[in-house]
Formats: sequence, C-alpha cells, structure tokens
Amino acid sequence: MNICVLGAGVVGVTASYWLLEQGYEVTLVDAMEGPGRGASHGNGAQLSYSYVAPLADPSVWTKWPYYLFSSDSPLTIRPSADIAQWKWLISFLRASTAGRAKQTTIDLLQLAFLSKQELSQLLKRTAFDFHHRTAGKLVMYPDAPSLEGARAQVEFQARHGCHQHVLTLQQCLEVEPALRGARRSWAGGVYTENEEVGDCALFCKALVEEMSQHNRFRFLPLTRIGRAITENGRLAKVDTDSGRIETDAFVLSMGAGSAGFARQLGFSLPLYPLKGYSITVPIKKGSEQAAPRISITDLSRKIVHARIGNHIRVAGRVELVGTDEQIPERAIRELATNAADIFPDAADLSDMRALSPWAGFRPATPTGLPIIGPSPVPGLYLNVGHGSLGWTLACGSAALLTEQIAARKPPIEPGPYFL
Ligand SMILES: Cc1cc2nc3c(=O)[nH]c(=O)nc-3n(C[C@H](O)[C@H](O)[C@H](O)COP(=O)(O)OP(=O)(O)OC[C@H]3O[C@@H](n4cnc5c(N)ncnc54)[C@H](O)[C@@H]3O)c2cc1C
Repeated sequence: MNICVLGAGVVGVTASYWLLEQGYEVTLVDAMEGPGRGASHGNGAQLSYSYVAPLADPSVWTKWPYYLFSSDSPLTIRPSADIAQWKWLISFLRASTAGRAKQTTIDLLQLAFLSKQELSQLLKRTAFDFHHRTAGKLVMYPDAPSLEGARAQVEFQARHGCHQHVLTLQQCLEVEPALRGARRSWAGGVYTENEEVGDCALFCKALVEEMSQHNRFRFLPLTRIGRAITENGRLAKVDTDSGRIETDAFVLSMGAGSAGFARQLGFSLPLYPLKGYSITVPIKKGSEQAAPRISITDLSRKIVHARIGNHIRVAGRVELVGTDEQIPERAIRELATNAADIFPDAADLSDMRALSPWAGFRPATPTGLPIIGPSPVPGLYLNVGHGSLGWTLACGSAALLTEQIAARKPPIEPGPYFL
C-alpha cells in the first residue's frame, strides 16, 4: 500500500518512519527545503512526558485581565476580524473547566508515555545523534500559593503514572547548582527526574536521512501542496506545484497549515496557530559548570531553558496573532534577558546576532489534545493539533496512527484523539 504524508514536521516525519517500518511505501512532501523546518525547528527541545497539563484550565478565567492588559504577560492576544480566532477562543474558554483539564491531562499522559516508550525502542534499534539526554526537568514557581497549586497537580498525576517531587528552593539549588547565581525569587519547584531533551530539527533530519536509504521511501522537498481531488467521495489525488500525487491513502500533518487543507474537503479542524519564539544561546567558554544540566522552566514567565550540546535553547511566549511571521526585537530581548537573569555566568549574550532568533506556530486545538485517526473523508488520515507538545508526542502519535491504518489493535485507546 502507498501512503503519502503531507507535511514534514516532526509529526509527519515520525508518521512516515513508523509507516515505512511496517512495510508501507511512503512519500513525504513538504514546501520547505528540508524536514523539520516549521514549528519543529527551533522549539523548546523538551521531551516533556509528565508536564502535559493543558493551557485550557480554570485558572485562565481569573488570569484574563493579566493576559490582556499586562505588559509582562507571557500571552498576547491581538483580536482580529478572523472568525477562526474567535471560534478557537470560545472553544478554548469552554474547555477551561476543571473536569475537562483533568481528562485532557490523563489522555495526554497516556499518549506521552507511549511516545517515551516508542522513542526509547527506536533508539535501541538505531543510533541517531540529536543531543538526546535524560536531563530531568525542574519547573520553578514564583510564590508559595502557586507551589501549593502545583502540589495538588503532582498528587493528581501521581495517580496516573508520573513520578514528580515538590522541592523547596534549597532542594532545587542542590538538584541544579547552576541556579545558584539566578537573579530571581522563587518559592520552590517541581522536579521530574526522567524527562528528556533533544534537538527536534536534528532528529527530523536524521530520520529522513535514514529513510532515504530505503527504496520504499521518497522525500519531496520544495513541493507546495495545493488542491485536494476526491473521486466517489474518497481523497484520491493531491495537486502540488511539482505535479499530481495519486496514492492509496494520505496522512495530513501540515501543522498549523492543516486547517486550510481540511476546509477544501468540506470539514473543519479546530486549529489555531499559537506563535512562540526561541533563541539558542552559546555557553560561555570555560563556564560549563555554570550552565544547567537539567531543563529549567520559569513558570511565571512561561519560559523554558534546555541545554543542547554547548548551547542553551530558550523558548517561550504564546501569541494569538494569526500567521504574522515577524520576529519582533522585544520578544528576543525578553528571552535574552531571562537567560541572563537565570544563568548570568553561563549565557553568552555578547553577540545578539549569534542567538539564532526563531518564531514558530504551535498547531493548537482548544483542549490541547491532538487529533489522530481517520478523517471524515475516506482515504485521508489526520495527525494534527499537537500544540505545545508535538516533539513530546510525535513518536506515540506515529505508532497510534500506524496501527489504525493497519487496522490492528492500537497500543492505547484511540477514542480521545478522534476528530
Ligand atoms: C516556541 C515553541 C516552543 C516549543 N517547545 C516545545 C517543546 O519543548 N516540546 C514539545 O514537545 N513541543 C514544543 N513545541 C511544539 C512543537 O514544536 C510542535 O507541536 C510541533 O513542532 C508540531 O509539529 P508538526 O509536524 O505538526 O508541525 P510543523 O513542524 O509546523 O510541520 C508542518 C509542516 O507542514 C508543512 N506545510 C504546511 N503547509 C504546507 C503546504 N501547503 N505544502 C507543503 N508543506 C506544507 C510545513 O512546511 C511544515 O514543515 C514548541 C513550539 C513552539 C512554537
């Protein structure tokens, strides 16, 4: 059976890999010159299997004034005439209940644990160099009430398989001595020892290189996907700017671009692009000890820091601003200032041009759950909407989708991820 995977971000690349391993002929298509160039390129690098609680939770109701009016809010909403933005926001607010947030967390944990297991098995079969490490993750809370709130979440998640610890500030400094120089006041943190990091873009590149050695695989870069053509109600062909692709089945994994493709076929995907930014900061020569080994999240600013080789990836912000690709200087300055405050002795910010400023669009659903499985149109499968967790969830999503395409028993209950 021939399958065409539309979109070569980490979600499409992993789906291709898993399908190829199961004996399918796979064509992977992307508009960019290589794989992993969209949201998967400069992301926060965290394989954050236990830190999956959705953005849509009851706290957003009290935080709206801060989000809308505070200049230091990590979330920006630029209201527009785009109906998709309003529809998404209304659905997001509807999903912001305690019950929904808990169920989403359980469903995301199940997929995240599958992902961890799938990636680990993959790395036993083949060695890829993508700076992968079990780094651990420490999420720092600014004050006692927020740390107490985190304790309740840790207790809830412990009942669903997570091993996390609430630490005092002193204990945090013992676990990660690089925080000793931080110019921040924190009450403490939540430590998860078995969280991982890895460079998502390097992983995508390595997987495509490995697949390219196979005669059942072809990658079509620089190929823009256009019109979808149905025959007898089934998706049969897709037009691209390099010609027509005709195959037995298609997988949609075009990230934030997926909604437009679905619209042509008469159904809607509840996706909105949530813009974020990153910089990749060199570690000062001779200062490796002052650089973090553990991934650090500064919760009040919602900024994550992960060590990738001899750099620190700093990523953050959530902006509902449509698909404006500009990278404003203030966003980069905010990330750089954060890195300077938290790792003053390690972050080399002497040359701002060397920081590889980057912006990407998280393909987000209102609940935070990705959509994996059949679409309303026969011949088309969905693997979209991984929001803030696409790198974390990609391998599990690929395994879940592949088993559905093969009509075998899926490794986890697939219902929560259906459209
Ligand atoms: C600032 C930031 C930090 C993040 N940090 C983390 C993190 O630490 N951990 C984590 O798990 N996740 C993180 N994420 C989320 C993660 O990066 C995304 O969920 C993930 O990359 C989505 O992958 P994707 O393959 O669905 O989309 P993408 O990577 O965007 O891939 C979609 C692909 O489709 C292609 N495409 C779209 N339209 C067309 C077309 N018409 N024709 C041809 N090709 C097309 C694009 O070129 C692109 O390559 C972060 C995201 C951001 C923005």
